[in-house]
Amino acid sequence: MYKESDVHQIDLPKRIVIGTKVREDLPRHLKELDIKGVVIIITGSSSTISIGDEIRSILSNHGYEVFTFKTREPTIDEVRKIVNDVLKDHLKPKAVLGVGGGKAIDVAKYVSKELHTDLISIPTTLSHDGVASPFASLKGMNTLVSIKTTTPLMIMVDMDYIIKAPRRHLIAGVGDLVAKYTAVLDWRLAHNLLGEYYAEYAASLAIHSANHVLTSWEKIKYGSEEGYRVVAEGLISSGVAMCIAGSTRPASGSEHLFSHALDFVANYPALHGEQVGVGTIMMAYLHGKNWRKIRNILKNIGAPVTARELGVSEEKIIEALTIAHKIRPDRYTILGREGLSWKAAENLARNTGVIS
Ligand SMILES: [Zn+2]
Repeated sequence: MYKESDVHQIDLPKRIVIGTKVREDLPRHLKELDIKGVVIIITGSSSTISIGDEIRSILSNHGYEVFTFKTREPTIDEVRKIVNDVLKDHLKPKAVLGVGGGKAIDVAKYVSKELHTDLISIPTTLSHDGVASPFASLKGMNTLVSIKTTTPLMIMVDMDYIIKAPRRHLIAGVGDLVAKYTAVLDWRLAHNLLGEYYAEYAASLAIHSANHVLTSWEKIKYGSEEGYRVVAEGLISSGVAMCIAGSTRPASGSEHLFSHALDFVANYPALHGEQVGVGTIMMAYLHGKNWRKIRNILKNIGAPVTARELGVSEEKIIEALTIAHKIRPDRYTILGREGLSWKAAENLARNTGVIS
């Protein structure tokens, strides 16, 4: 007999499709995954609405009844509103399709959890690794960190959409991927010091996701299609590492705490992956690792590496560093229980060139 605490359940995506014009095959994929009848699409800002409309017409032409919901902000109120509308109209969808960047997919994840339906993730940018993981960040839930929702049954990355997205999003995706280095170092530290559960396979997969982009940085820099594919594969495998670990541990450590802290003190100044990339440079320094290599690659591909490039003051960087350890007290990292003093934070930011 196993105690419940001995059981480790892993839910993985069943199908991952990456390619050009793969959207045209979406009806076949859904039928093979036993999704028929009614589906709902959740899209985000104006740039993704047209993509949502295209997906809707492809599915409608193949006999699906499709209802589209647009979200402005990834908030719990938006989730409740969509869930209420779906229930009020007795829509009974077989799946929720999140079509957009991070926000629409985060809302779709939570809606699918509330409605107990399958989730299909159709990212239109490659800015972070939430596209393949069951974790979602929503505002208005009294937490800055992610909540566990539904693992996507399928992830579809159509290169046509991804290549048209702003390049800044791709670069942010690289920032979210280099973060796996320090995330895994923090995880090992928590395992060695506190005996926290550590899954070697998930950790290796996360590191592999980071290496995958770091060895291909030139392809990413020059915007080749292969560069986009590499980032897509890296983000998806990082998402799968989280599915295997059952937590965000392999993908999110002190560098993410710094980014969440910066969101708190400076009101979401830059893209998640951009902030996390800068956090990774500084946390690699604290871990005594090769932070210069990470900084050079980020700089080479055009990612922000300084406070000014992130669009925040030097004081906000220091302030965020000093409170980062309080963002998620249950997550032990190199920042320790006490965090950094103002002076230590200032030195860290200055020694790594984040502030001058
Ligand atoms: Zn992230």
